[in-house]
Amino acid sequence: MPEAPKNTLKPSDYNLAEKNKRSLQFIEDVTSNSDEVQKRVLEEILSRNAHVEYLQRHGLNGQTNRETFKKVMPVITYDDIQTDINRIANGDASPILCSNPISEFLTSSGTSGGERKLMPTIEEELGRRSLLYSLLMPVMSQFVPGLEKGKGMYFLFIKSEAKTPGGLVARPVLTSYYKSTHFKDRPYDPYTNYTSPNETILCPDSYQSMYSQMLCGLCQHEEVLRVGAVFASGFIRAIRFLEKYWKFLANDIRTGMIDPQITDPSIRDAVMKILKPDAKLADFIEAECSKESWQGIITRLWPNTKYVDVIVTGTMSQYIPTLDYYSNGLPLVCTMYASSECYFGVNLNPICKPSEVSYTLIPTMAYFEFLPVHRNNGVINSVSRPKSLNEKEQQELVDLVDVKLDQEYELVVTTYAGLYRYRVGDVLRVVGFKNKAPQFSFICRKNVVLSIDSDKTDEVELQSAVKNAVNHLIPFDATLAEYTSYADTTTVPGHYVLFWELSLNGTTPVPPSVYEDCCLTMEESLNSVYRQGRVSDKSIGALEIKIVEPGTFDKLMDYAISLGASINQYKTPRCVKFAPIVELLNSRVVSSYTSPKCPKWVPGHKQWSKN
Ligand code: AMP
Repeated sequence: MPEAPKNTLKPSDYNLAEKNKRSLQFIEDVTSNSDEVQKRVLEEILSRNAHVEYLQRHGLNGQTNRETFKKVMPVITYDDIQTDINRIANGDASPILCSNPISEFLTSSGTSGGERKLMPTIEEELGRRSLLYSLLMPVMSQFVPGLEKGKGMYFLFIKSEAKTPGGLVARPVLTSYYKSTHFKDRPYDPYTNYTSPNETILCPDSYQSMYSQMLCGLCQHEEVLRVGAVFASGFIRAIRFLEKYWKFLANDIRTGMIDPQITDPSIRDAVMKILKPDAKLADFIEAECSKESWQGIITRLWPNTKYVDVIVTGTMSQYIPTLDYYSNGLPLVCTMYASSECYFGVNLNPICKPSEVSYTLIPTMAYFEFLPVHRNNGVINSVSRPKSLNEKEQQELVDLVDVKLDQEYELVVTTYAGLYRYRVGDVLRVVGFKNKAPQFSFICRKNVVLSIDSDKTDEVELQSAVKNAVNHLIPFDATLAEYTSYADTTTVPGHYVLFWELSLNGTTPVPPSVYEDCCLTMEESLNSVYRQGRVSDKSIGALEIKIVEPGTFDKLMDYAISLGASINQYKTPRCVKFAPIVELLNSRVVSSYTSPKCPKWVPGHKQWSKN
């Protein structure tokens, strides 16, 4: 198997060109020998874990070849391993899924039963994640030269973590990565030279973290060559933060003293190494930020920026117009595709348009299989959650090198950390090949109807939240005739909007406070990732219910039919995105209400809170 490039160089002997060449050669090698690499990855995973309970339970009996593996092992979803996961979470340290000790759980933004899914991981996976990261800049350097001469202004954050009853840490994958020595003690590399000192990233208080990162970014504004965050939504939140706090930030730069609200001593120390009194820079920031228009604010404040590095594929594409506005049309670059289960791949043509982004899966990361997706009238899946696959469907799975151009597949992974034939839930389309490795465009996450940040709400969750909320209307003899939803990203942060058409049969009108209760009940009913976004990350705004005139949903149907929908098969969409439809609904709103407060949320799973 090709060796992962190692980074052991010091600044003095740093040979960037050589390192880039090695990384690109690695990509060439693994994509040219994709099938061989995949075969060896599977053999390695299965031989190491030959004795784990899960593989024995299914009768694999230590076999490591692909054919037997595919014959014997079922294709699964989280529910199938939830009992095993719970045992590990409760402290069973025997080799259930993996022969290596489970080092921690990564809490996915995908949920099960309203709580984040727990993905077991092992120490060495950090190395695999670092490897994928190490490929990104060598790829980028082919398209944008000179990036080693300056810095990246990336807004990176950690989130809260919890302990499982058995004592394992449970936290999001990026929190785990930023807190690891792979990130904190990274060797000198001009490509991981960020404006944010580690201390500002590793602060659990999101206000202090954002403030100090923005301050450091402004102080070093001429050195910044690229800006970014993980997701587009996070980057837009940073700009909104600047809109709110630029006067304080400029004042700090004028005086050379950090605002007293930043109390974390390690942040203060780290920032004071960068912050120097600079009246000229403070004047410049004030002049730019007080202009009425914020169009192009990125290029105005950080004039040497060459691109914005954020994920704008999948649901994040809703933020492209806002990013274009703030960045004056700088390239929006999506570099990688990853998850808590596994880091998958990289974009080998990062300067392409967002609509043309494709990811090349790196065959050393895991063993990948692909389940063909059959669409029903263009719709991938209805309200149902994924069912177990029957034998025929199990046989339809194909290997990485056997996918067909233009076909859509659901991604299935077998990882070093102990997931076997696990359905990630993402739908990908093959759009090309790099040597023998397919390149995929990200189509969607199965079943997700609403998403603002990392939240993923499916139709079942939405339906049940609506059902709980309408109970408030019973005393008023009002019933919900129809509803749909919309992710409104014109506000920062964005928020969920529900359009409700009611049948009002009672004589007492429904008071506004009751509709507000409906909003809050809906929020309380949504999953923990949503509620964390509302409460802790403040990345999602208050849910809004808009009451529409009677007959609005008939008009919606008429419109859909005028666009070619079949009358017999028409079903009210439970989420709308198409601008003319949103406009139609908005034009018939009679009143609107928002949640008066945040829903409840605590770190960790509900059932752990007694610990
Ligand atoms: P999590 O497990 O919370 O880290 O979420 C991982 C999921 O985020 C993936 O399975 C995708 O659905 C989504 N995701 C990650 N990277 C991308 C990307 N580059 N484009 C679109 N969606 C992505």
